[in-house]
Amino acid sequence: LSAEEQELVETIDEEDVDFLRLQFTDILGTVKNVSIPASQAEKAFAEGIYFDGSSIEGFVRIQESDMRLKPDPESFAVLPWRDTESGSAARLICDVMNTATGEPFVGDPRYVLKRAIDRAEEMGYTLNAGPEPEFFVFEKDEHGRATTTTHDVGGYFDLAPKDLASDLRRQIIYNLEEMAFEVEASHHEVAEGQHEIDFKYDDALTTADNIATFRSVVRATAEKNDLHATFMPKPIAHINGSGMHTHLSLFDNGENVFHDADDEFNLSDTAKSFLAGVLEHAPAITAICNPTVNSYKRLVPGYEAPVYVAWSDVNRSALVRKPAARVPAASRIELRSPDPSCNPYLALAVMLQAGLDGIEKGLEAPDPVRENIYEFDEAKREEYGIDTLPSNLGEAVAALEEDEVIQEALGDHVCEKFVQAKTQEFGEYVADVSQWELDRYLEAF
Ligand code: ADP
Ligand code: MG
Ligand code: MG
Ligand code: MG
Ligand code: MG
Repeated sequence: LSAEEQELVETIDEEDVDFLRLQFTDILGTVKNVSIPASQAEKAFAEGIYFDGSSIEGFVRIQESDMRLKPDPESFAVLPWRDTESGSAARLICDVMNTATGEPFVGDPRYVLKRAIDRAEEMGYTLNAGPEPEFFVFEKDEHGRATTTTHDVGGYFDLAPKDLASDLRRQIIYNLEEMAFEVEASHHEVAEGQHEIDFKYDDALTTADNIATFRSVVRATAEKNDLHATFMPKPIAHINGSGMHTHLSLFDNGENVFHDADDEFNLSDTAKSFLAGVLEHAPAITAICNPTVNSYKRLVPGYEAPVYVAWSDVNRSALVRKPAARVPAASRIELRSPDPSCNPYLALAVMLQAGLDGIEKGLEAPDPVRENIYEFDEAKREEYGIDTLPSNLGEAVAALEEDEVIQEALGDHVCEKFVQAKTQEFGEYVADVSQWELDRYLEAF
């Protein structure tokens, strides 16, 4: 064992942890758990824990199903919401290894992100990323099933007593802080029952781990209160959906290389090329950052969600925004399309690879658009050269199938399994007969 691992084995013992939950995510971003008694910690670090990968979404074919989990000691955290009577549990986030080759498994989303991070490092950069995840909290019915009845009637920045959810939000924040999150802001969102909690940016791998953890903490804390928290992007039609704006910057030796004090927008040429790469690959990125049928119900004009491929330093209708930065360390770009149903590892991997592609090719960013793009007609959009994001999951997958840079970012295995799963998902949706259709046509014809 490494010194760090040895020390952690002792900590696990001292903190009276009973169970270790070894976590990893499937291609669709669902967190999977393998629980082991804490007494197995030493063995888990020394040898890894073997499991059958054939039952995990998109992982492997049956005949090559032996996988090994390799816990990352840096990710150790005691789970704050477990009852102490039933024993305390801690989690460890794992890398997935292929037992046959001893190499990282190419279908592990965390490995896909690590490959992107390695490429950035070779170019001299570290990606910092800060997400703004939004979610809804709903009541449950008498059978314990989630409803779409919101449990409060607050609006954006409303204060108590209207904001009955502030209590739940406070509990969530305490739990996050116990798991070493630095929560920067939290507020009620525009829609009833909708919330946002922002935590401090970190390197890409830590942030992806944090997003996965964040979703578990929010769901578990709501559950404890007999409520259902959901990261479904658009649970209710005609009101704002839930996004996960993602702030991005590249650092080199602790210096923010996106910052240039002499530039009109305080953005360096590196930042502008990165931005241009993100815009260039935006359609394919959308498949990964907006991976559900429902994601596209959010990406419609009028609800503060982006629809058009453009950037702006002033308005929030563009795909990429340049937020005002008071200090050089805060110079960054904000990608506004991602939603919290995405796989955070794959999402950050494709954002990073798209930006690096822009830098490598020396792409130049177009001029920012300072008007409200929602109000442009098609002719004006054409005049400005503004493309539209894919309008459904089928179009997004088609865009991915045309973008070799993003395919390469994912790797053959993940790309193939992702396209397969999403093509099937979209096909099922298209073939379904919805309530809207019945309401509209059943009696009319
Ligand atoms: P908004 O104005 O869009 O609501 P917020 O202020 O809520 O933005 O979110 C800011 C996010 O950006 C936070 O997660 C913060 O940690 C992150 N952030 C700040 N500086 C950087 C940076 N240099 N690189 C990446 N993320 C950053
Ligand atoms: Mg915010
Ligand atoms: Mg928000
Ligand atoms: Mg860290
Ligand atoms: Mg934002």
